[in-house]
Amino acid sequence: MATELLFRDDAYLRSTSARVSAVHERGIELDRTLFYPQGGGQVGDTGVLTRANGERIGVVDTRKGDAHDSVLHLLQDDAPRPEVGEPLTLAIDWERRHALMRLHTALHVLSCVVVAPVTGGNIAPDKARLDFDIDMNLLDAAKIERETNALIARGIATETAWISDEELDARPELVKTMSVQPPRGAGRVRLLRIPGIDLQPCGGTHVANIGEIGAIRVLKIRSEGRRNRRVEIALM
Ligand SMILES: [Zn+2]
Repeated sequence: MATELLFRDDAYLRSTSARVSAVHERGIELDRTLFYPQGGGQVGDTGVLTRANGERIGVVDTRKGDAHDSVLHLLQDDAPRPEVGEPLTLAIDWERRHALMRLHTALHVLSCVVVAPVTGGNIAPDKARLDFDIDMNLLDAAKIERETNALIARGIATETAWISDEELDARPELVKTMSVQPPRGAGRVRLLRIPGIDLQPCGGTHVANIGEIGAIRVLKIRSEGRRNRRVEIALM
């Protein structure tokens, strides 16, 4: 069953109400959610569901379900299972999510500082990384840090836009990530635009203004296989 994905239009929504639409062994589905399911390199949200009687149910992870736009909320092991149709109050672990948003947007900025094909990426609450197909001696941690932070300091507002699958096919240069192709088949693809800096398909959650990232530091740069050079960053 498709879930209304509230984080797509408002990544800053921390709490809302919803109804249980399905209960599975692995987790539950809701008619609407603000929990981001793991995808595009960004880990799934955690948080709490509160029942009408005040009972709290921990969400330990969020994953995509089998159906398009369906979301599975994975509950803590010993939690009571809510019933289909039951109303719940949803709250995400906001500090964790906000760190993910800052780091995810930071990777988009980083991808414009290191100009090379992106072969992979991951965003966790404490650090994020991009893998590039590039020569190791072209990567200078201090320079990458300086240039990324200079772009962040420009404080530019981010925008989301949607284009059709056909438009995206006509503009292959938009897709920087070779290993993570944007999801197609739904007829349209979501883009994140940082005006003057970056434009690429992305379904993740982002800060409204890159200034909100603050600043980043490069934790390490290392070789991960013959073609992969991994650049790992954290927030200052
Ligand atoms: Zn992204």
